[in-house]
Amino acid sequence: MKLDTLKKLYLEELRDLYSAETQLVKALPKMAKGASSAELKQAFESHLEQTKEHVERLDEIFARLDEKTTGKICKAMKGLIEEGSEMLAQEGDESVIDAGLIGAAQRVEHYEIAAYRTVRTFANLLGEDEAVELLQQTLDEEGETDKALSQLAEGIVNEEALTQDEEEKDVATVGSRRR
Ligand code: FE
Ligand code: FE
Repeated sequence: MKLDTLKKLYLEELRDLYSAETQLVKALPKMAKGASSAELKQAFESHLEQTKEHVERLDEIFARLDEKTTGKICKAMKGLIEEGSEMLAQEGDESVIDAGLIGAAQRVEHYEIAAYRTVRTFANLLGEDEAVELLQQTLDEEGETDKALSQLAEGIVNEEALTQDEEEKDVATVGSRRR
């Protein structure tokens, strides 16, 4: 497609996001399954439900424009998910792996935030007010997820991972949770 209008670029980037979100719908259950902390599992599961809504919002935007959602694969998300899979395949301490999963998930959120900011700006410039609203709702949820993941990392996982570093040989503490 010849990108000779902002509208075309807007559609191109929306399709990229559509691909990103649908890839995530498939990846998040694996992240939830692979997480050891109950809170982290829960965080992935609830973000899965949100992510399904993100797909629906994009569907709605495409439907209003009478355009197809397909035609693009988000390679960046493919790579980010691959990195998450690498972390899932790692052997090691549960809490350290959880910290790695949070890191992978936050990379995903930051990518989405950057992409949604761009399309929201384009929608604004194009006078697509309803789309601006829908994109902003998703953007807010991505931001909240990022914050929640930071809190999980600080409050539970990182602290525990650090402690275990000092007590490497104390096998009894491995995988257990402390506050
Ligand atoms: Fe999303
Ligand atoms: Fe997200």
